[in-house]
Amino acid sequence: MQRFVILMYHMVSEPKTAAEIKYACRPKQFEQHLQMLLNEGFKPVSIGAIEDYYINHTPLPDKAFLITLDDGFEDNYSNAFPILRRYQIPAIIYLATGLVGKTNQWMSAPTFSKRKMLSWAQIKEMASQGIDFGSHTVNHPALTELDDESVCKELVQSKKIIEEQLGVACSHFAYPFGLLNERTRELVQQASFKTACTTRSGFNNAARDPLMLHRIEVYGDDSAWKLKQKIGFGMNDASWFFPLKYYSSRLLARIC
Ligand SMILES: [Zn+2]
Repeated sequence: MQRFVILMYHMVSEPKTAAEIKYACRPKQFEQHLQMLLNEGFKPVSIGAIEDYYINHTPLPDKAFLITLDDGFEDNYSNAFPILRRYQIPAIIYLATGLVGKTNQWMSAPTFSKRKMLSWAQIKEMASQGIDFGSHTVNHPALTELDDESVCKELVQSKKIIEEQLGVACSHFAYPFGLLNERTRELVQQASFKTACTTRSGFNNAARDPLMLHRIEVYGDDSAWKLKQKIGFGMNDASWFFPLKYYSSRLLARIC
């Protein structure tokens, strides 16, 4: 069965704290990741191609990958966007719409540094040049801790403002913190989203629920070689001890 990978990034800039090393990928490193993917024959696809794959059964190229960036950091515009454009690689940025033009106030200091978020002007410029935008709610809450009405508000309001600002349908979603349950997924479907990304690791294929897509989390300090290993195994943590971890996690999956 044809399979594809979705890569998850957050910040594309220098990490400023120890905790940020996982989430902030230096621009040079980001570029090396993209070069490796292209050199290894991976084919960049847009979220629209993935939607088409699930809804219209339009095939994807072999070794397809999608770049996703969560949260909407300003460095996505200043650092990631010029690199993506240079290699003509599409990507989707998931916006917490209530934070557009503000700072990453949901991330706790001093573990994380204060960071600027994208402005609507930057978002519009990128949208006109091959970057897609999806919803990541309004306030970046843990949706599993909210009542249904609050979840609906987060989903519908963020979708609406993206559609108003960009003049195109907003059909794609990413769960903040990767948190969801059956009810959350159902409410995402009711809000008319066509795809939704989790933070669960692994490949995707036709059997995957498009509202529970899996991703490979790319850590800021992953070398191109490490990323290649992660994609090869479809796992976030492809270390030398991988086979042992793999089997024990499979075992746990069966027990739980
Ligand atoms: Zn997030």
